Amino acid sequence: MAGLKTYHAKRRFGVTAEPKGKIARKAGHAFVIQKHAARRLHYDLRLELDGVMKSWAVTRGPSRVPSEKRLAVQVEDHPIDYNKFEGTIPAGEYGGGTVMVWDRGTWSPEHDAHKSLKKGHLSFFLNGEKLHGLWHLVRLKKRRGESKDNWLLIKSNDEAARKPRAKDI
Ligand code: MN
Repeated sequence: MAGLKTYHAKRRFGVTAEPKGKIARKAGHAFVIQKHAARRLHYDLRLELDGVMKSWAVTRGPSRVPSEKRLAVQVEDHPIDYNKFEGTIPAGEYGGGTVMVWDRGTWSPEHDAHKSLKKGHLSFFLNGEKLHGLWHLVRLKKRRGESKDNWLLIKSNDEAARKPRAKDI
């Protein structure tokens, strides 16, 4: 799933306003979360690595409550240009629906990002406008017939965590 081949193959760039984008040569540490009201509402978490945005569609959005694990389905890498994308993808197109930026900032892996992703446990810090502190992405064992990698997005229990009863953001 590395690179932008899949991203490009899924879209008709004359029809959708999403950026075509290309693999960036600079090394940055941007992250973005886009609220995507598609067929099913979800939040796309994107972490910059190797010139692309590694991407996960998070069901119900990230939770700052450590006990509230959220399913994060890994989707195709997106171009870094996508971080600025907001708007409506036409109905009938891939991901048809509205996209808005929900949070943005920088991220940093706690350990080596490549090894962590390969191993299936990425611990990372978010420095966003809404989200902060340490988070975990933990890959679930692939079940028969599943084509995509399912992960869990989990807030680590730190100062940026929230008690289950506290008000949500
Ligand atoms: Mn999406």
